[in-house]
This record gives sequence, C-alpha cells and structure tokens, in this order.
Amino acid sequence: MKNRFSYLWATLVGLAMASASGLSFAQLPAGQQKGGGGQIRVEPVRGHIYLIAGAGGNIIASIGPDGVLLVDSGLTANAGKVLEALNQLNREIANAGGLPTTTVIPPKPIRYIINTHLHADHTGGNETISKAGRTITGGNVTGEFGDVAEGATIVAQQAVLDRMSQAKPPLPFAALPEDTYHEDKKLSHFFNGEAVVLLHQPRAHTDGDTFVWFRGSDVIATGDIFVTTSYPFIDLENGGSVQGEIDALNRLLDLAVAEFRTEGGTLILPGHGRICDIADVAYYRDMVTIVRDRIQEMMKRDMTLEQVKAAKPTADWDPRYGSGDRFVEGVYRSLANAKR
Ligand SMILES: [Zn+2]
Repeated sequence: MKNRFSYLWATLVGLAMASASGLSFAQLPAGQQKGGGGQIRVEPVRGHIYLIAGAGGNIIASIGPDGVLLVDSGLTANAGKVLEALNQLNREIANAGGLPTTTVIPPKPIRYIINTHLHADHTGGNETISKAGRTITGGNVTGEFGDVAEGATIVAQQAVLDRMSQAKPPLPFAALPEDTYHEDKKLSHFFNGEAVVLLHQPRAHTDGDTFVWFRGSDVIATGDIFVTTSYPFIDLENGGSVQGEIDALNRLLDLAVAEFRTEGGTLILPGHGRICDIADVAYYRDMVTIVRDRIQEMMKRDMTLEQVKAAKPTADWDPRYGSGDRFVEGVYRSLANAKR
C-alpha cells in the first residue's frame, strides 16, 4: 500500500482512475484543477467511493444512482472548487455508460454531508455545498434524516452541533448540522447499494468524532482521529483525550480486515493524507500508545511538561511527522486531566 499510494502516487492515481471508472485521461480535469489556495485532486478509492483531496481535510464522496453523499466539506474558501470538481466527476460518472456524446445525463443531487467533527477544515464548505445540493434536487432520497430541507442534509454527532452553534463569531445557520445522533447510527436504507454506518468515537480527537463506514465497499472514513501527515491533535478544548484517541484507533483495527497478511482489505481514509490499510492504522496506534506510555512514566517521576518535552518522547517518529511538541503537550495535559 505504501508503495502503491505514496511513491508512485501521480501515475497510479491517473491509471487507477481511468481503469476503475472506465474514463479516459481526456476526461479527467477534475483531478487536475488548479487555482487559488491549492489544487483539488480526485482519487478513486473503490467502486463508487472517491477521495477529494486538497480542500482542507479529505472529503470522501459516494456517487451513484441515489445521488451524492459526502463525508466532510473542506475549508470555506475551497467550497467552490470542490463543487466544480464534484460536478465534473458526477457528470463523467453519469455519462460513462457509453451513450452517444450528445446525450447528457444530469448529475445526481448531493443528498448528505456527514461531518466527522467540527473543525473548519472539515466543515467549512457545509453552507455552500449543501445549498448547491438544494438547487439540483427535489428532496431527501431515503427520508432518513428530517427531510426539513430539500437537498443536502448536514449530519453530525450531537456534540458537533452543540459546539458549532456556540462558535464566535457565530456561524451561519445553513453551515450547521441539521440532523444529529448520539450513539452509533446507520442510514435506514442502502445508499448507492450499500449500508452507511456512523460510529461515534467519544472523546478522541474531539468529543464529536464520527467514523463513516461504507459497509459494502469496506471503506472507512476516519476524520482526524487518524491522519498520515502528522501526529494526532488531541483537541482538549473540544473534548478530546489521548485515551479516547487510542480507543478509537483500536476500534478501527477491530473493524478493518486485511486481505493478505496485514495488507489490503478494508481501506481506511484518513482526515489528512493518503489512502491506507490496516497496517498503517496499526503502526499509528502503536506509535500513539508508546508515546502515551513514555509520557505516563515521566509523569510518575513528577517531570514537568517542559522536562517531558525536552526528553523528546516522540524522537523516533519526528522525522516522519515533524515536531512532536503539540502532541506531547496534548498527551501530557490529557493524562493530567484524567488523574484529577
Ligand atoms: Zn480536526
């Protein structure tokens, strides 16, 4: 997986895109759009599941006969570009059935945006994208959530709405989740031919984290509990904790199944970074657990935060993830909170 997805990234993404969806290279501008604050890249994951990168946090899209379901919405500033890429992809998929080129099938409406947590790089596009869903749709397809709006319904764990509705300055009403859940939740009907399951992970990256599990495709979107580009951010102010982070990574390992040895099988889509499998999650879980154990030991010896930082408990992984200071501080404070 590492070889396939990091070293030969650009080439293979192009090849995989063409072979997975039967599209020609000439039809791939969605993956190559440039401009403004970055480049939006569309990468096929498996079947009708796509990863849209470059808009902030990763956006995951399920695109098929029932319409579009998105996991997260990127930064506000990139929402227009995301919509453009999405419409392009959507149109290509709708018209990939070998019909005459004069026959244009309208793209499917955006039905759902599921927010994995509250951070602005995952929820910033909510307003623009959900409204865009509204203009091309006639209603919520499954009737599962509310049906208050015609078009994209924003779904999140209750804590996400609680915190976003208290944001200062206040967020526009249309950017807030309109349907929430507390414990685990599933869409009551298949969406694009498969079950979609929402799993709440308490007090991990934040207190409102959701894993979105596309059960038929066997793909799990993790939000920022799992990322490949940095240490985890334990957002204490928004209810995160290191124990919750480890519990959530362990739950991910319970859900995922390898195809051969520890490779392949369930695909794990991180909040930031490349497409992963169970081996990548195991590596990350081990790293977080070892760092937590080291810091716990140092705290037993009454070392201060400054002393713990100076002892570099993340040194083994710093070449890969960069400075460990913010992570060390998060773990330290989280453990200190737990002791109280
Ligand atoms: Zn986050």
